[in-house]
Amino acid sequence: MKEMDEIRLKKIIDSAKRKLAELKSEEFSEDTKKEAWLSANGRCESCGKKLVLGNHNEGEPGAWEAHHIVPKSDGGLSDLQNCQVLCLDCHKKTDSYGMHD
Ligand SMILES: [Zn+2]
Repeated sequence: MKEMDEIRLKKIIDSAKRKLAELKSEEFSEDTKKEAWLSANGRCESCGKKLVLGNHNEGEPGAWEAHHIVPKSDGGLSDLQNCQVLCLDCHKKTDSYGMHD
């Protein structure tokens, strides 16, 4: 019976470790990005360029990204308060760009 308990415990620990890794690498959820986009009136919060909600890739018209105002490396969370809507050009100009931001 004791061995069974150890196996079960190990499984619980493994799944907790996975969950922790998920939380640390957490990106803005689709809902958060949509809310941020809506509150920015669908425009870049830096240059005011009109953005398209579903476009996030280079080359697409009105493509944009959700920017962490406080970088995750400084403890910034992936919530609406820390989410800034930026066109790709403005996002590239941020200090934390490229740091998995
Ligand atoms: Zn911009």
